[in-house]
Amino acid sequence: MKKIAILGSTGSIGTQTLEVVRENKDIKVTALAAGRNIKMLEQQIREFHPKLASVWEETDAKKLRTAVADLDIRIVSGMEGLIEVSVIPESDILVTAIVGMIGIVPTIEAIKAGKDIALANKETLVTAGHIIMPLSKQCGVSILPVDSEHSAIFQSLNGEDRGQIEKILLTASGGPFRGRKREELGQIQVEDALKHPNWTMGQKITIDSATLVNKGLEVMEAKWLFGVDLDRIQVVVQPQSVIHSMVQFTDGAVIAQLGTPDMKLPIQYALYYPNRKFLGGERLDFAKLGQITFEDPDMETFLGLRFAFEASRAGGSMPTVFNAANERAVSKFLNRKIGFLDIYEIIHFCMEQHSLIREPSVAQILETEQAVYEMIESRW
Ligand code: NDP
Repeated sequence: MKKIAILGSTGSIGTQTLEVVRENKDIKVTALAAGRNIKMLEQQIREFHPKLASVWEETDAKKLRTAVADLDIRIVSGMEGLIEVSVIPESDILVTAIVGMIGIVPTIEAIKAGKDIALANKETLVTAGHIIMPLSKQCGVSILPVDSEHSAIFQSLNGEDRGQIEKILLTASGGPFRGRKREELGQIQVEDALKHPNWTMGQKITIDSATLVNKGLEVMEAKWLFGVDLDRIQVVVQPQSVIHSMVQFTDGAVIAQLGTPDMKLPIQYALYYPNRKFLGGERLDFAKLGQITFEDPDMETFLGLRFAFEASRAGGSMPTVFNAANERAVSKFLNRKIGFLDIYEIIHFCMEQHSLIREPSVAQILETEQAVYEMIESRW
């Protein structure tokens, strides 16, 4: 029986992970961590019977303790709580479905404790990939991608010699504003940006998909996960979201993974790797689909992708600046404090102001994050 713990169990990836658990009878949930949604967490505790659960605020932890007083479970809180969930001795795999850089420290602690990581929380690799990848090698743990594109690449690499990768072809839907020009983006409202054409996801990643920041984060994630240079990662817009990504090899062969847009497939693949299992749901009907189309991304309009390449090329602490600036800017956009194009302006401004640290430690990454937040708060 597989034993898993989940960070971010109440979110989009977290709840879909629990759906996979529900549909298969051979996964045991040992621990769950959520932010503020204690109502949903209580339901999850009652259904999946973990031994440990964590919430962010101690006041919420107190309420939850009272609510589940009839059960044999320990409720913890804060960063210590997240870490306890991550390293719980009973589990084999940690699913990192939490959003943002808060996932860095718990993920590192889980790796040190020998847990395999089913990684959805891409911000962790983007900012601390230079620490996490060598550490996982040293500790002999696997980083199993949950992001659909990275899972597709991972599946395309099955049984292949990674030394023969010529190029990674990372596909992108182009988001809800594909085809629009810069002058048309100024008036975009939160509701428009939250309508993704193909995927239903958490709010932050949905906005990141609209700005193409998400694709930029995925480029950086792919660089770390598969150990390829930036120059060998090409973003290909494929609006139907049928091809989840591809790998081109040195003999010119291209291998791709295709499927309907359903995150349960990559989640299940990560949990059962290297085995495949039945997963219900819609199948691709190629005759009905008719065509799959391709185009280059518009990096002049959607600056999120351009800035991501620049940040990754600069390396060191710059991806942290890119990511932290984006996290704060998206939160301000969702709270209607700034406009859509201001997200790009904030990222650009913060990257310009930053003095690069070449090989930042975890403490320096977190200090950089704070400094970026303070810079943004003092100006916007
Ligand atoms: P959601 O916003 O839907 O969920 C985020 C989760 O993180 C929630 O469970 C939330 O808890 C929890 N959380 C937030 N802050 C804290 C905190 N301080 N302490 C503990 N838990 C916290 O996000 P998604 O599921 O969409 O995304 C999660 C990650 O997966 C992101 O990194 C995203 O980029 C990545 N990803 C998502 C995909 C998707 O399809 N959604 C696809 C590929 C990658 P609560 O709600 O209780 O506050």
